[in-house]
Amino acid sequence: MKLIYSDAHRDHAGAKEMRYDQMIPMCESPERMDMIMEALAAAGFKDVVQPAPHSLEVAHQIHSPAFVSFLEKAYPMWEREFGPGGFATAYTFGMRGMNQVPNGSIHSMLSCYTFDVCVPFVKGTWTAIRSAMDVALTGASLMAKGEAAVFSLCRPPGHHASGDLAGGYCYMNNAAIAAQAHLNNGAGRVAILDIDYHHGNGTQTIFYGRKDVFFASLHCRPEEEYPFLLGYATERGEGEGQGYNLNLPMPRGTDYGVWSASLLTAIDAIRALAPSVLIVSLGVDTYEGDPVGGFRLASQDYLDIGRQIAGLELPTQFVMEGGYAMEALGTNVANVIRGFTRDGEI
Ligand SMILES: [Zn+2]
Repeated sequence: MKLIYSDAHRDHAGAKEMRYDQMIPMCESPERMDMIMEALAAAGFKDVVQPAPHSLEVAHQIHSPAFVSFLEKAYPMWEREFGPGGFATAYTFGMRGMNQVPNGSIHSMLSCYTFDVCVPFVKGTWTAIRSAMDVALTGASLMAKGEAAVFSLCRPPGHHASGDLAGGYCYMNNAAIAAQAHLNNGAGRVAILDIDYHHGNGTQTIFYGRKDVFFASLHCRPEEEYPFLLGYATERGEGEGQGYNLNLPMPRGTDYGVWSASLLTAIDAIRALAPSVLIVSLGVDTYEGDPVGGFRLASQDYLDIGRQIAGLELPTQFVMEGGYAMEALGTNVANVIRGFTRDGEI
């Protein structure tokens, strides 16, 4: 299986995040990718492809151009105001009763285009966002040329980002952009299976009124976990997208017995729709030792997840999302890929 990866994300680093009563280094770090690359190489996956540069054309089919422009200029604008170093985050948010249209100030843009304090902008952030988009789009291009399965090792992740809102370490929605690329390349219908611990609120929102992309998400229930305001089982899509959104929320503490039953439910729904392409939003923060997770999956379970997904026998693009338990992150991701490929046979 081809692995698409670039080091261009590396300077998206150095910011801190608020965790209850303290500021801590961002869990979403460049070192995450090192752990994954090392484990994949050790497992025999060494076919690494550099992403090709792409225009913003497909990204603009998913995200508003004004939002994408904001992502590009956020840090430079911040730096002009405050000087080099540090990182940009919002002071306020464009909530109920507030104007939703930014004026020329960077503060108003951060207020309108971000929904939490987990999307800091540093000098290297835009380069990383753009590179992650290229990693996703290169994966879709390779599949259009005949690859049966690819792994787009994107950083930063994307599934919390909607059409014009960044949040939860996510800026542009890499999986959604990949889905749009597959449709542009002639796919009849795309299914996105999101197995990150957190609900993929951004992906759901982007495709909520569409039937050409089916979205299924396994995640911790919003009563207990981020993003708290979305991810209920009752959210099934709207308009012509009615029935094309499937949420499978589970309580904190869920183990693989319960989780894998939900996976089979999602897999059955995807099989029934017979999509032309499957995208897996691959988060492994479901791991029992994850610092931002609350499920109890073990490293061995990820082998079975890969096998179960392979059972769909669909052209498949893995797109990296979350996973923050550094000691096991690489093993867990590699196990999904090992299970999916039967240790490299396919
Ligand atoms: Zn997550």
